[in-house]
Amino acid sequence: MRKPFIAGNWKMNVTDEEALQFVTQVTEKLPSSDKVEYALCAQAISLKGMKEKAVGTDLQIGAQNLHEEEKGAFTGEISAAALTSIGVKLAIIGHSERREMFNDTDERVNAKVKTALNHGITPILCVGELLEDRESGSADTVVKAQLEQALAGIESARAAEVVVAYEPVWAIGTGKSSTPEDAEAMCKTIREFLFDTYGPETANAIRIQYGGSVKPENIASYMAQDNIDGALVGGASIDVDSYLALIEET
Ligand code: PGA
Repeated sequence: MRKPFIAGNWKMNVTDEEALQFVTQVTEKLPSSDKVEYALCAQAISLKGMKEKAVGTDLQIGAQNLHEEEKGAFTGEISAAALTSIGVKLAIIGHSERREMFNDTDERVNAKVKTALNHGITPILCVGELLEDRESGSADTVVKAQLEQALAGIESARAAEVVVAYEPVWAIGTGKSSTPEDAEAMCKTIREFLFDTYGPETANAIRIQYGGSVKPENIASYMAQDNIDGALVGGASIDVDSYLALIEET
């Protein structure tokens, strides 16, 4: 029942010119989104141009972050209102790189998810354990704590709009993807957490993506799992053919 959702996370790797070229090339070949939804999350500078190029297609364009405050003296930041003013309705929130390098604490991630929802922006909420958490057997506890804090104060009806991305930090950009079985086990734990927090309807509506070294060659093995509803893809989303293949294989 949950429609698979493939989101590309380009990080800081694609110039504006490249981004616009990519959208032009990809939109000629994208399938309809009847069976699978797809998005590209780009640097803020490219979002408006990409939106314009994607008009009339099903390609969603998303941001990689937003600021939790409505407006004000936050030099260099991007507000939800600025995003929606150019039609952007999707944003990655709490990516591990932001948690690690840009002070996206659990508290701020929670505030950002709320701000996104208040503005009608779908948050792709990223959670995931470090290698040391996995090795010490505390991965489940860590991920559940991240979820609990990120979703604090968000009621069931609004939580249904959230997309959760489970991204084990050790698998991001390393080529060492999680096994489909381990990824499924964690996504099931996430689903159970959502069930306990929000009840069956919302828990079954929320899409859970796996992320971490996903590529066209392995995406089908994740999609075959009951609780994995798509992928958040970094490196393999930057090439047109590879991005199309990811959607094809979903
Ligand atoms: P990767 O990145 O696919 O390059 O591992 C995933 C992500 O950071 O979202």
